[in-house]
Amino acid sequence: MNMQNLVESKFDPDLAIVDEICAAGEPWVQRVNKGQIFRIVDLEGNQAVDTLFFNANHASERYSATDTVRRQNRLYLTTGSKLYSNYGNVMLTIVSDTCGRHDTLGGACAAESNTVRYALEKYPMHSCRDNFLHALAHDPLCKQLEMSKRDLPSNINFFMNVPVTAAGDLEFVDGVSAPGKYVEMRAEMDVVVLISNCPQLNNPCNAYNPTPIRLLIWN
Ligand SMILES: [Zn+2]
Repeated sequence: MNMQNLVESKFDPDLAIVDEICAAGEPWVQRVNKGQIFRIVDLEGNQAVDTLFFNANHASERYSATDTVRRQNRLYLTTGSKLYSNYGNVMLTIVSDTCGRHDTLGGACAAESNTVRYALEKYPMHSCRDNFLHALAHDPLCKQLEMSKRDLPSNINFFMNVPVTAAGDLEFVDGVSAPGKYVEMRAEMDVVVLISNCPQLNNPCNAYNPTPIRLLIWN
């Protein structure tokens, strides 16, 4: 990991216009306007924060993992990374990061992936896909944008450690994050943030223990 990526923020939590806790395993939706700063804090360490971004005016434009990876020739996200949309526009820029590395490849956990990766009886366990679908169906911001199941692209996993081996395999391993580490980004357009604070209980990425996160926004 390149330590030059570790950049602390100058923003004071006391001055934030949004300062909320998202409980372990819960979804969270919020609008972030162009120029605003958005911070995610990994309160207890090694939590996976499955995150999607949509253009706040038309959800057909959304975060694109392939555009983000391809345009920067980088698999991991950290300070300086730009988050591109499927239309090739920069949606957000990461401006501070005390964790150092965030995953673009691992995707969201789902009932189906839990049965394939772990065991058939894991099917009823709560998952990020369930969180996303619940928010898409019930959250006022998502409903306003007339979003549905078809609006779920591949997500970012903030704080999650999914190294790619020399052979090209993905590994899901214990994290690079720790209590209080955060990632902060500047919105380059008006966006809607859709988070699933991962409820996964079968994966070493979060030490088999989902924990709360803190979300802050500054003007
Ligand atoms: Zn998950």
